[in-house]
Amino acid sequence: MSTPVRTRFAPSPTGYLHVGGIRTALFAWLVARQVGGQFILRLEDTDKNREVAGSAEHLIASLKTLGLEYDEGPDTGGPYAPYKQSDRLDIYRTWAQRLIDAGRAYADPYSPAEVQAFREQAQAAKKAFLYRDHRPVNPPAWDGTQPLRFKSDPKAYSWHDAVMGDLTTGPEVVDDFILVKSDGYPTYNFAHIVDDAEMHITHVIRGQEFISSMPNYLNLYEALGLDRPIFATMPHIMNEAGNKKLGKRDGAKDVLEYVRDGYLPEALVSFIATLGWNDGTTQEVFTAQELITKFSLDKVGRSGARFDEKRLLWVNGHFMRELTLDELAKRAEFFWPESAKKAADPYKKQVLSLAQDRLKTLRDLPGLTNYFFAEPAANPALLTDNKQLKKLESSEIDRLMAAARDALSTLKQWDAEHIQTALNELLEKTGQKPGILFSLIRIYTTWAPFSPQLNDTLALLGKETTLKRLSIYQ
Ligand code: GLU
Repeated sequence: MSTPVRTRFAPSPTGYLHVGGIRTALFAWLVARQVGGQFILRLEDTDKNREVAGSAEHLIASLKTLGLEYDEGPDTGGPYAPYKQSDRLDIYRTWAQRLIDAGRAYADPYSPAEVQAFREQAQAAKKAFLYRDHRPVNPPAWDGTQPLRFKSDPKAYSWHDAVMGDLTTGPEVVDDFILVKSDGYPTYNFAHIVDDAEMHITHVIRGQEFISSMPNYLNLYEALGLDRPIFATMPHIMNEAGNKKLGKRDGAKDVLEYVRDGYLPEALVSFIATLGWNDGTTQEVFTAQELITKFSLDKVGRSGARFDEKRLLWVNGHFMRELTLDELAKRAEFFWPESAKKAADPYKKQVLSLAQDRLKTLRDLPGLTNYFFAEPAANPALLTDNKQLKKLESSEIDRLMAAARDALSTLKQWDAEHIQTALNELLEKTGQKPGILFSLIRIYTTWAPFSPQLNDTLALLGKETTLKRLSIYQ
């Protein structure tokens, strides 16, 4: 029987969870879910200086919001608990002791000034600085106050990375790195290997920043007698221009901010999955279920993926249109304009059904729907900024509005179909172009830059409101 797939997401609580982190989590989740394996959340909080209060809660909330539920984790427990590294210090000590006993770790006796002197010597000799060139002959016994260093066994390595392909390095990049720091906490380099082994992780899926340390990790796997897991290194996420790594300044927000800004979690999941991955077809949007079926690490690109917020907006619009009306109503709850607070739910749903096609994010809701709930304030710029409308004399506008009022006031049945018939007749009668006549009616009844189809809009506004609005601004 083959080993059950177990993947993990192992973030450090050192700040908000950026898109790259979420993508790593998503891919690890997909790899587990597609074969009925397990996805584990492990908090790597051994760098106490870099810890940011609240970031663990934030990253857990981000995963949960996107539906990346984990089977084991700090708040859910599991067979290999604890899942927070600072609660596992005894475990690292045990493993460190094994290395000491095997002669593969030693107490580092040097002061920072001594290490600096070694560095300078190497620089003067035009050689790369390596700790292993300075191994103490008789290291002191490790009492936990000095750093504990790995005694490496330098050699060339070849390994396969599920994304980056076959990689090789020479012995010169293998060095004696720190396993346990003088503050008693293990380094990432040591702790993650211990934890991945103890937690039976089969796939190590992580960012590119760790790839240069791979030869050291491979050396440590050997010293500990561990089998290598499958490695998959994610490409960087680049800014929109594709010329540098994505940073906060490039406008990339954290996923919870996007959700607060009216983006749908399922759109974020689809968009993030396609940062560097596609299924080899032209399909651009994927449901989580499709991703689970179609995702594969070997289709993740090796070069950086461009983060294009305009594409995210487009993907979001797609998912907005796919929602059932009931679902849209649920999602819209916190995004209605103030004016809609007292409106009845069935009316709000009718408004949504008209606005749905035009909503790119839920945040668009107030701008697109406020006039269904409250009298809109006139915004003359909508007339004066419009190429065609700004040429109209005000007497012509008065004539058209009066004709519109007449035509609509005689309507017996106030529904979209009858309104459309009346509007068509009005076109003939006034001899105006639809681009002018319908735009004017739309503006006078909504004072919004966009609105749903005119006949639908008027039908929902009701006869009384429509006629009143058409008279007010004459
Ligand atoms: N704790 C590391 C980080 O947050 C995780 C790397 C890994 O997944 O092994 O960057």
